[in-house]
Amino acid sequence: MFVTKAILIERENDKHVAALREIDDGLLSVGNVVVDVEYSTMNYKDGLLITGERSLVTKFPMIPGIDFAGVVADSEDPRWQQGDRVVANGFGLGERHLGGLAQRVRVEGDWLVRLPDNVSPFQAAAIGTAGYTAMLCVLRLERLGVLPDDGDILVTGASGGVGGVAVALLSKLGYRVVAATGRMSEADYLKSLGAAEILDRAELAAPGEPMQRQRWAGAIDTAGSHTLVNVIAGIRYGGVVAATGLAHGIDFPATMFPFILRDITLSGVDSVMQPMAAREEAWARLATDLDVAKLEAMVEEIGLSDVIERAPRILAGEIRGRTVVDVN
Ligand code: NDP
Repeated sequence: MFVTKAILIERENDKHVAALREIDDGLLSVGNVVVDVEYSTMNYKDGLLITGERSLVTKFPMIPGIDFAGVVADSEDPRWQQGDRVVANGFGLGERHLGGLAQRVRVEGDWLVRLPDNVSPFQAAAIGTAGYTAMLCVLRLERLGVLPDDGDILVTGASGGVGGVAVALLSKLGYRVVAATGRMSEADYLKSLGAAEILDRAELAAPGEPMQRQRWAGAIDTAGSHTLVNVIAGIRYGGVVAATGLAHGIDFPATMFPFILRDITLSGVDSVMQPMAAREEAWARLATDLDVAKLEAMVEEIGLSDVIERAPRILAGEIRGRTVVDVN
């Protein structure tokens, strides 16, 4: 019996309790591939899972961790052999299927993506769900016809994980990037990732006019609520917003005006249930379009024993860039 260290969330006396525990692998979820996790990561959603905010966990006990990178240890799926290097994101990991903040996971072979040769498990974790989602957003802008020559692209939550990778990707692809942040002290960091201009997110936080000065050809929004509404109000005629997050709020207090008078497209981006072809495309593009030095500048590495303390801090917007968890 293999004993694995994991963050375990249990329901005790109606309370949501997370702790570092040891469990034997008989307790792992059903699935046809066992993966030895090398690195997991902490995303905003892991903060929600571990603290119990928004009650995302549907089954107890649960191991959080919406993503992981590692090596196949055992497989009943003919597509996967022992030693294959893999990454997984979403599919209910950490919510309804035991997740990646553990030394070992059992999952369905259908959920795994083979790591591109030039991406190490550490780099894959540094990218993580946040970076893969940022790539999905960039692909969405491209697919909807927003090109570097069209004008500036606004990225909100730029000091966070999705935002930071989006800034780095867009700048490498030749877009001029405006990074919106609540932490103006991170201006130098954001410029080092490729931002040409920094915007104080306070400008976007309060209710505003439904149509404002046309400033950006497109945007990637991680905030929702009034921030997203103000972003849409400042998009140029025919522009596109890829909206993926709710760090400001889950509401959307908008009017129809920018859509019907400025031909704006609001396109939602989900990472959890993306079909495999879209995942593979995103990971292939990350392998070529993300500057490794910029990725490394975004990462902080922690151990499993540091995870619980960090969860409320990620929700409070105190963590910069990406957090990689060395689970071993
Ligand atoms: P992070 O915690 O790393 O980053 C979030 C950032 O949002 C913060 O760093 C902060 O950046 C900004 N922020 C915090 N509070 C507010 C606020 N009140 N108003 C505006 N901005 C705020 O999270 P991730 O990058 O992992 O995720 C970002 C969002 O995207 C989350 O809501 C997450 O749930 C969502 N997401 C959705 C996915 C999907 O499948 N749809 C997949 C991945 C993420 P700064 O200090 O620079 O302003």
